[in-house]
Amino acid sequence: MAGQKRRTYTKASALRIDNLTTVKKFTTMEQPVFNKELHIKYWRRCLKSVLPTEYTSTDSSRLSLGFFILSAFDLLGVGGDQLDRKDVAGLKQWILNCEHPNGGFCGSPNHKYPSEYYRSATDTPSDMDPANLPATFFALMALNFVGKVGEVDRKKCLKWLQKLQREDGSFGETLGKDGKIEGGRDMRYCQCAAAIRWILRGDLKSKSQKEVDDINVDGLEGHIRKAETYDGGFGESFEHESHAGYTYCGIASLSNLGRLPGSLSKSEEGAEPSDPKLTGVTNLQDTIRWLMSRQVNYVESGDEEDDEEPQTKPEDSSNPANNEIEQLAAAGLSLEDTYAIGCNGRLNKGPDTCYSFWVDASLYILGQSKLINKEGSRRWLIEKTQHMIGGFAKEPGYPPDIYHSYLGLGTLAMLGEPDLKTFDPVLCASQEAKSKIERDIAEFLEPDAPGKSVWDNIVLMGDMVPVSDGKFPKFWTDAEEEHKKMKEEGTLPFQPFAPENVWSGET
Ligand SMILES: [Zn+2]
Repeated sequence: MAGQKRRTYTKASALRIDNLTTVKKFTTMEQPVFNKELHIKYWRRCLKSVLPTEYTSTDSSRLSLGFFILSAFDLLGVGGDQLDRKDVAGLKQWILNCEHPNGGFCGSPNHKYPSEYYRSATDTPSDMDPANLPATFFALMALNFVGKVGEVDRKKCLKWLQKLQREDGSFGETLGKDGKIEGGRDMRYCQCAAAIRWILRGDLKSKSQKEVDDINVDGLEGHIRKAETYDGGFGESFEHESHAGYTYCGIASLSNLGRLPGSLSKSEEGAEPSDPKLTGVTNLQDTIRWLMSRQVNYVESGDEEDDEEPQTKPEDSSNPANNEIEQLAAAGLSLEDTYAIGCNGRLNKGPDTCYSFWVDASLYILGQSKLINKEGSRRWLIEKTQHMIGGFAKEPGYPPDIYHSYLGLGTLAMLGEPDLKTFDPVLCASQEAKSKIERDIAEFLEPDAPGKSVWDNIVLMGDMVPVSDGKFPKFWTDAEEEHKKMKEEGTLPFQPFAPENVWSGET
């Protein structure tokens, strides 16, 4: 189309990636700068102001938006000491208010009747504003930043989760009339189910664990592995095309289920593909190859009169790629020194910010992060999709949105961006957030475990520093005192509950 920038994508082949590890480093090359303050401003805007009209259709996914916003603040290290404490307490109540009386969470307060409309678990029709699987995953993850995952009705939630599993091992999204499992066979549901199970059961063996029957883990693993295709990627379900998003969901699910070697869930580097322990993925070599091949070089040329005009002379100097090569050569550089490496989700597709996450996170979980072109990937995110108002767009030229902004930020954290917290690719949150869940799991499965009191009364999110000596860091001491004071004064903002105030900033 006339006047539009022309984009071309080339596959970053194995050869090129190998070359990149040995290519001469040009100290004169300017590294793109990650503007942390700009991103903090963007996320503050998402939390405190009315979101653009385009978000109206995402009302049923508000818990996912809530998680992205809270987790972004956490990654940026500006949680508890920057957010208004009343907002944090209100957010916690907002999340808990979406909990369904029969277990699990609804996606938004608008998708749940007031509690008095639900009778008992047996009398209430199961399809009356039912709980939703992805919403439950996001609710637990979001709650972790403003409270504890143990504050939900864990047993009810796990029983509800069990009812969502089909005979073939797959999971549905909701329970419909007469307990019918509804929703497609979607790999995203496998990921949500495996993560909810991990969050609420943990890997711990305890008496309380035996009180709730587990899901059929073997069945779920079998279903996931059936979705692996001939090329090594995973599809939405069996007999579907490989797709990077579903591939991540499959691999992360196996990790959460403990069906990949334990060390890999900690993103251990350097595990060899031939490692016999890697039994969770059927054709590991193919999966790694397929993931690695999703990395594509993004080349943007100047304005073109007509992109659709056939290139009769590809070697002609009017070819922008040739021009770029010539200009770089004159500066003593090669094309590889300017690579902006994005990732696509499928063969012959262009790169998209969210696929940088799905692909890179999968390689990290499999212990193959050495195959990621980290420098090129960082350049793609910061130079091409980072937006001038903060956040990340789907691709260059688009406005930023909450989903792509979070996954762009998460990818940078995963790649080791110094201004961001260390990232866990399996849970898609900071390592600190994961550690806090582990401590909370230990607390509610083993109520007398040492260290329980350390986390009592913490109502604010922030740097969740492990406290080995039993003392609170100063920030938490202040928070605890303030919490007590507010409680005594009766100023804890739990009632009346008004979720729209939290999200619109009209407090
Ligand atoms: Zn995307």
